Order: sequence, then structure tokens, then C-alpha cells
Amino acid sequence: MSRLHFQLEATADGSKARAARFRTQHNEVLTPTFMPVGTHASVRTQRREDLLDDGVQVVLANTYHLLLRPGTEVFEKFGGIHRFMNWPRSVLTDSGGFQIFSLPESRSMHEEGAVFRSYIDKTTICLSPEKSIETQKSIGADIMMVLDQCVPSTVDHDVARRAMELTHRWAERSLLARGDSAQALFGIVQGACFDDLRTESARTITQLPFDGYAIGGLAVGESSGQREDCTAIVTEHLPQDRPRYLMGVGTALDLLEAVHRGVDMFDCILPTALSQQGVAFTSIGRRDLRRAQYRNMEGPLDPDCGCYTCRTYSLAYLFHINRVRDSNSWQLLGQHNIHFYMRLTRTMREHILAGTWLDFYRSQREVLDARDSYGTRSVFKNKALQQERKLRLGNYEVVVREEIGRIRHTSSGEVMHSVNEPAVEARSLYVEQSRLTDRLELDAAEPLVVWDVGLGAAANAMATIQAVESMEPAARQRKLLLVSFENDLDSLRLALRHNRWFKHLRHAAPARLISEYRWEHASGSIEWLLLNGDFAHRKFDAPQPDIVFFDPFSFKTDGALWTLNSFRELAAICKDRATEMFTYTCSTAVRAAMLAAGFHVAKGRATGPKNETTVALSSVAAAGEHPYEMLDREWLAKWERSDAKAPLGADASDESWREAIARHRQFG
Ligand SMILES: [Zn+2]
Repeated sequence: MSRLHFQLEATADGSKARAARFRTQHNEVLTPTFMPVGTHASVRTQRREDLLDDGVQVVLANTYHLLLRPGTEVFEKFGGIHRFMNWPRSVLTDSGGFQIFSLPESRSMHEEGAVFRSYIDKTTICLSPEKSIETQKSIGADIMMVLDQCVPSTVDHDVARRAMELTHRWAERSLLARGDSAQALFGIVQGACFDDLRTESARTITQLPFDGYAIGGLAVGESSGQREDCTAIVTEHLPQDRPRYLMGVGTALDLLEAVHRGVDMFDCILPTALSQQGVAFTSIGRRDLRRAQYRNMEGPLDPDCGCYTCRTYSLAYLFHINRVRDSNSWQLLGQHNIHFYMRLTRTMREHILAGTWLDFYRSQREVLDARDSYGTRSVFKNKALQQERKLRLGNYEVVVREEIGRIRHTSSGEVMHSVNEPAVEARSLYVEQSRLTDRLELDAAEPLVVWDVGLGAAANAMATIQAVESMEPAARQRKLLLVSFENDLDSLRLALRHNRWFKHLRHAAPARLISEYRWEHASGSIEWLLLNGDFAHRKFDAPQPDIVFFDPFSFKTDGALWTLNSFRELAAICKDRATEMFTYTCSTAVRAAMLAAGFHVAKGRATGPKNETTVALSSVAAAGEHPYEMLDREWLAKWERSDAKAPLGADASDESWREAIARHRQFG
């Protein structure tokens, strides 16, 4: 009988993700759950009230450190760690194995145990499985861990096998040492990154009657792919009726991936450790407050977070106190990060219980670990980034996340479609929202003209072509003329070279377009033209558009395309035509430029973490039937109060835009 009364509540369809609950001596724990690390019986810089409010159910403490200081006699005097740190919920103690592994200079491993020198008083200590359990008993942890031998992920098979076998023998000794104590004890699966050893270790350890099973020896230098494969191999062999704990992992994305592979519990120092560096996990990916762009930015760290930090402080303030190394910065970002992790695990649980896990999992993979793309500072100099450097051409490079390629503009650091999967955004924001296939079903002599401004890696153009190709041939009543504008074809060339990460390019059209500047579908129902050169000039060479996909880099990178003057020229081109223009931004300055140029402006649909995008209509289109919610007087009032109300590129000596926006017919 398990000491934890574990109950499996749900397993997701098409995934190993599970929701469960178990009861310790102090509280009920709902999984998946994250356990903040309180190495020295304190979660660094965090108040217990905030941890309790955030729904922390278990904190992790380190046996090795607590054994050295304050020492077991203090815990014995206080009757355990709960009273000592005044923590009413559960505590899990690790065995000390990992800390000893991290001290290669001053330790040696023996059958009996690990011998090391205390960093406090330089005495020699032997941490045996029995000593570790005895220490954890006096600490009074709800969940104890067996002593294990950790090895680096790079060791050879022999070394990994010997460490694993020693871990197995120590596991049996730990169980004996636990005896009839009411404290729960978890076994640990080892085996480095070798599939056969991991399988063998999981089979051996699960023969022993532990209250839960942990996957150890990861997050020690292996790649995330190796870690995920290894996790999946181990969970395959773990019993359904015991909790599973992945030790020392990881980023928000790592948690998502591990839950998908059947893990229930996590601990990691990242939420607090990264806060010390000024890095936060948010609903729109990571934010790195060392980037100068945040210096005067208003708005919260995470627009979708209700934590104290996000409710109270602006990005600019957090940037400032991080810069002057005020310890409040560490505390505030840590508080946000823990809040974020706890909310993430709760949300995962809700989706598993509601049967919507797979959709959630897919939607979050892209968002959770997105690197901060503001500015150029590169913080995470790891092997993956070095690999990316090989994937360069001209001013672009390929960035691969989750097997999906994106193009980054190297001098600005900006990534195309940085937060959403490019193909998904192309379909939703441009192809579907413009009702393009419906329009092709209406018989007309003239082709439907679609402008694709900013060809890039051709995500929007290929989503358009593929949408038309998947229509019933009989339904295609009208020809499509797709005109792509691009001044630098290196991004498409680069993506074509690496089309294993750009699936949409596995088609005859893009290669033909780049060599001949034109491609036509065999049926004659689609013609695709490329106008190479600056949009500022080439737009006058194209037939008037019915639909414009306006998707260049942002105004930070492609400034000239977003100016008042540029939109004025566009408005003149579309003057007597029902043109609808779609773009990903909802920036006030861009909308102001469109309005001042004579477009009518509406709210576009949400995409990924963006709540709103923008649709601009020519006067003819605005006068006709359309499904869009126009910007109203409330937006106008907000614009009036905004600090950024001038259209981009507006001439300081000519403020006629003020009048043009304030008296725009759409607000009349
Ligand atoms: Zn927050």
C-alpha cells in the first residue's frame, strides 16, 4: 500500500499526459505540479505567503545542504522542517546525490556511500544511503528520495552502467533504512542517455515498493531532444498508480513536453535563478530585461498575468531596478516566474481533465519558450545558437524551433512570425480572414488580385496557393493573381535550402518563382508573380489589388513601409477599388498612419498571443458589405490620450494628420 494514496484522475487522448492527486502527511497534492526549490529551507527571496497564494503545494529542500547547516539537531529540536520554516504544506527532500555529483574535486564514491569534505568546517563526511535516509527522517520531509549516483550525460556506457547498478543497490538499502516510517520514499531511475540502461533501470527500480518514481540524472548537459526521448522511454515502464517526478527540469517548455510524456512532478531553480539575471517566462515567451528596448516601455511584464509584479510595475521600472542590481528586482521577477509556473501546471491539469490537452499542448509549444526578439542582445549562447550561425545567407539566418523553421533578420534580430507557427498564422490571419476561397467561387472575368507584401520565406503565398489547390476544381470560378513583393530574395533562397524545416516549400512553385519570377498552376487557375525590388517603387507596377497581405518586418526593421506617406500612396492606388488590407500589428501609430492616409480601419482577428490585429479598408470596401468591427470613438479617445499618436514618418511641419484622423468619416 502506497503511503501517498495516489489516485489517477485522467489520461489525455493521444498523449501520456495525466492528471492525478495524492495525499501527504500535510496536504493533498494535485498534479501536474511544480515544486519551487528551497535549498536551505527557504525559497530564495520569496515570502511564504506569496508561495501559498500561488498555490505551491510542495517545496523542495536539499538534504546535503541542510545536513551541513543548520544540522539535524536543529530539526530534531523543532520537530522537523515544517515547524522550523513555518511551512504548512508538503516538503520533498532530495537525497544529496546530485549535490555530491556537483562537487567533483572533493568527493569519492564507494560501495558504502559518497565521501566528501564539508564546505563549512572541512571535516570528512560519508553520506551513505542509510545516512541520507536518517537525515531526511530528522528533517521530516513528506517525500524522501533515495541516494543515487549521478553521472554526466556524456559518460560512456560502462561508466553509466556501473553508476546505475550502484544506484540500484543503494535503492534497496534506502528502503530498508526507511523501515516503517510514515514518510514516503521515491526510487530514482538512472542510466545516462542510454536507452537500454534507462529501460533496465526503470524495470529494476519499479520492482521495489516505492511510493513514487523519479527520473534522475537529466538536466546535466544533454540536449532537450535527448531528455525528452529519455523521459518517454522511462515513463513507458513506470506503473500507472504511482507519481512520477522528473528531477531538476526545467524551462516552461520542458515542463509541457515532459507532461506530454507522462510526468507529474517537477522542480527547478530556473524560475528564481533566471530572475536574478533579469529573465522572465511569460505568456508571450521569455522576456529579457537586459534589452535596452525595455528602458522606457510601459505596460506589464506579461500582459496575461495577474501576479503582484505584473499588477504593480511597468516594464520600464523592472528594467531599471534590474539594471541597478536592486535585490527587489530578483524578488519581483522570481515572484512572477513562480506564479507563471504554478499557473502553467494548473492550466495543464485543467486541459487534461477537460479532454483538451492535445490542442493546448500544440498551441503552447510555440509560445512558451520563444526567445525574446527585442533588440540584438544574445543571452543564451548555447550550442543550438552556434548551429544556427551555419544557417546564414546574406542578412538572414534560419532559426529552428520544434522542427519548424523561421527566418531571422540578423542585423535587427527580428524573427518573422516569431510567436506563432508561420503556416498557422498565414492561414488564419491572411487566407481565412480575407475569405479568399469564397471570393474565388464567385464567377468573374477579372482575376482576384492578391498582393503579398514581404514575400519572406513565402509562408503567406504558399498558404494561399495551397488553400486554392485544396478547393474543388469545379468551385474555382475565378482566377487568382498573386503578386509577391520582395527586395531581398535571400530569405526565400535560404529557406529553400533548408526545406526540411520549411514544409510549405516542398512544392514546385517557390523554386520556379525564384528563378523565373513567375509560376502558373497547370490548370491556369493560379498565376504567381514576383516583383523584386523596393515596394515603394514596385507597387506602381502591379495591377490594383482586391486583397493585400501586408506582412513585412516590423517598423523597427522595415520602417519605410509603415509610414504615412507609404500608406497614402497605397490608398491612392486602391482609391476606386474595394480593397481590404490585412496586417499582424495593432500598433496605434500604424493605425493612425492608415487612418490619416484615408483608409478605414477595423480590428483584425486574434492570432496566438496577440489579441488583435488590423484590417484596413479602402473607401469603396468600407462602403460595401463587410464583416469587420470598425475602430470606434472609444479607440479615437484612446488615441487622443496616447503618447504615440503621430503616424510613423509624419512630417513635423505638417500636422494635417491630426485633423484627418479626428474628423475621419468612420468616427462621424
Ligand atoms: Zn506576472
